[in-house]
Amino acid sequence: KKVSGLEPDIIGFGTPGTIDAESGLIKNSNSICYNGKPLQDDLGDQLGIPVILENDANCFALAETHFGIVREIDPGASVVFGIIMGTGVGGGIVVEGQVIKGKHGIGGEWGHNYLDGSGGKCYCGRTGCVETVLSGPALEKYYFRASGIEKKLPEIYRDYAKEKKYAVLTMDRLVHFFGKAVAVVINIIDPDVIVIGGGLGNMEILYTRGKEELRKYIFNHSVFCKIVRPKLGDSAGVFGAAALGMKV
Ligand SMILES: [Zn+2]
Repeated sequence: KKVSGLEPDIIGFGTPGTIDAESGLIKNSNSICYNGKPLQDDLGDQLGIPVILENDANCFALAETHFGIVREIDPGASVVFGIIMGTGVGGGIVVEGQVIKGKHGIGGEWGHNYLDGSGGKCYCGRTGCVETVLSGPALEKYYFRASGIEKKLPEIYRDYAKEKKYAVLTMDRLVHFFGKAVAVVINIIDPDVIVIGGGLGNMEILYTRGKEELRKYIFNHSVFCKIVRPKLGDSAGVFGAAALGMKV
């Protein structure tokens, strides 16, 4: 307001987790300090402006659909699945331009589907969630267990290109479980486009070997849905949050 002289009517706010429909409190956030807190009301009170809170992966999917890569390559797409693979794993589903929030506010939350027990315990209290296998920290943990050496994911990925043993093991495992986990989503919502955001979304391997792996698990002979990188970069969540305000 100080700079532009303008004042927003509404503020859209993207966050991990979702608002519990019954209590109005945040739940399922991997920023666990938010959980059980009335974040939307607190923000609205502090800012003196109505605040709409939405899951960050839903904001991402909404933004890439309306303003990003989906609009560019497949503007007629009726079903879009936005994946976040980074420190956590989340997802958002957009159907005919609208986010599917769902009965429990967990529409698209494939990160906490069961994938494989080897992932170990998840912050959500369950074991073997997609997030415990496919997130950046999960891959680094697997690499450390196999090699005894601590490395960050970008370095592991570079080592993979050099065909170093433990990096190849880690990436082979990523490809295998990426195929398995995403195939479940495709069999259920059969999206036209899948957009992969988050730190892992930059990794070429997901669009080549990862896509190829999907063929083994989906209920179809080929994979026709487009699997693409996002266009809006780190700003996607912000565009999506702004789009929430525009709908009202
Ligand atoms: Zn979990």
